[in-house]
Amino acid sequence: MKKFLKEFKEFALKGNVLDMAVGVIIATAFTGIVKSLTANFIDPILKFVTAREPITVVMMQTNSAAFLTEVINFLITAFVLFCLVKAISKIMSIGKKPEAPAEPTTKVCPFCKTEISIEATRCPNCTSELETAEVK
Ligand SMILES: [Zn+2]
Repeated sequence: MKKFLKEFKEFALKGNVLDMAVGVIIATAFTGIVKSLTANFIDPILKFVTAREPITVVMMQTNSAAFLTEVINFLITAFVLFCLVKAISKIMSIGKKPEAPAEPTTKVCPFCKTEISIEATRCPNCTSELETAEVK
């Protein structure tokens, strides 16, 4: 159970959950646009094309204002999400330190060019004495 919680914490902090939540919200908002497009334009046009209703009735059914509202809603949602994600990723990056480059543990012997321990004062391969100050 403890391991499970730890894994969950890692999963949640990795940003996968955030990505998923953003995806769901965007998809929901986009569905609104598609539904509005269908209800306000495609349905009336289909009614006209199939000659079930005269053009005047169809014109009254198209509601571009409602569709525009839906599009604006989507844009606002997307913009707010963008700001939110930016803020969250900034907060999350505060806790993390930038990865320091790995400390070298070996150096190359200037005489025989083999890799030896960085702390060696004498080369184990060619037995040459090494300057300890020299770090390569
Ligand atoms: Zn050597």
